[in-house]
Amino acid sequence: MTETMQANKRIWVYLEQEEGQAHPVSWELLGAAQRLAIDVPGSVVEGVLLGDNVAHIAEEAFHYGASRVYLIDDPVLGVYRNLPYGFGISNLVQKYQPEIFLVGATTLGRGLASVIATRVQTGLTADCTELTIDPDKKILAATRPTFGGNLMATILCQKQRPQMATVRPRVLPTPQPLPQASGELIREPLGMSEAEVAVKLVRFMPADTEERINLEYADVIVSGGRGVGDPAGFKLLEELAGLLGGVVGASRPVVDAGWVSYAHQVGQTGKTVRPKLYIAAGISGAIQHRVGMSGSNFILAINSDPQAPIFQVADLGLVGDLYQVIPELINQVKSVQPSQPEQGGQHV
Ligand SMILES: Cc1cc2nc3c(=O)[nH]c(=O)nc-3n(C[C@H](O)[C@H](O)[C@H](O)COP(=O)(O)OP(=O)(O)OC[C@H]3O[C@@H](n4cnc5c(N)ncnc54)[C@H](O)[C@@H]3O)c2cc1C
Repeated sequence: MTETMQANKRIWVYLEQEEGQAHPVSWELLGAAQRLAIDVPGSVVEGVLLGDNVAHIAEEAFHYGASRVYLIDDPVLGVYRNLPYGFGISNLVQKYQPEIFLVGATTLGRGLASVIATRVQTGLTADCTELTIDPDKKILAATRPTFGGNLMATILCQKQRPQMATVRPRVLPTPQPLPQASGELIREPLGMSEAEVAVKLVRFMPADTEERINLEYADVIVSGGRGVGDPAGFKLLEELAGLLGGVVGASRPVVDAGWVSYAHQVGQTGKTVRPKLYIAAGISGAIQHRVGMSGSNFILAINSDPQAPIFQVADLGLVGDLYQVIPELINQVKSVQPSQPEQGGQHV
């Protein structure tokens, strides 16, 4: 079959990488692409990979469900810059004409997706929470919160192609990798030299350790809200998180108040998380908070108000004062792991 005959059936996923390491959102999107492919007969799930010496990531992508990976491997792509990445991918889009193109809504992905959409003149639905295929039109139905998170809007891109969408890390589950799976690697040239890129990386300064907590991929999160009362109260949450090998999360008002940094914020304007255990202490459970944590495996809510909406999504609810409940939890955890060193807790 020729490239043109297949052109309308490609479901593409951008395989985001930094320093030769794939971002896990790429695998989450490959999982979503495979689910979409079920409802688009004859479609294929493919990855798009750019970087310098990154071919090993294509192998990983095959394990997560890509049947083919388009690779542009070039020293110009050694560090991420909008121009060469946007240029290279837009050329691939024009050549292979995918039907759907999914990109992770990471800091990098948000910028890149809008550059591509602008270059190829198509629509982009950002920060989607659900991706399906419209049963009648057989096109992508991209759902995202709107009006401050109070409504969900489903957006269709009816005329332009590809239909582009970004999804934040952890909104979608990670598929099980199949280590035996393989696929086809197609190398393409970048067609741009370093001299043509005006932006140069002069120096890279990593954020403070405090800011680099891996909230999105933490297995245990102990989150505090306005009910914690003051910044000092977060020391208690930090102690529990440390004992459980987890990190501290927070609702938006406590971030806005400067009690903890933005890196800890869970919710619509913060991070989306999917830990094995999410403890919400003194958090009412507003929809804007819940959209960021309702995918957690097990939710324990501690709140003095039995009517608090957080209890609607909790697997276990404890009605009470967090200043009584959390010290008791700390004692209980210590009693079952007396010699466990405190590790992994994040300082706030
Ligand atoms: C566009 C937009 C985006 C937003 N994005 C986010 C976001 O990303 N993340 C987010 O969290 N919010 C977000 N919000 C804010 C959100 O609407 C809520 O205002 C916020 O989540 C409430 O935070 P909270 O639960 O900490 O505070 P509150 O709603 O004030 O709740 C405090 C809770 O603590 C309980 N409590 C008090 N004392 C104790 C105690 N001693 N022990 C136990 N419980 C106690 C109370 O009963 C209450 O339920 C957003 C809002 C908008 C409009």
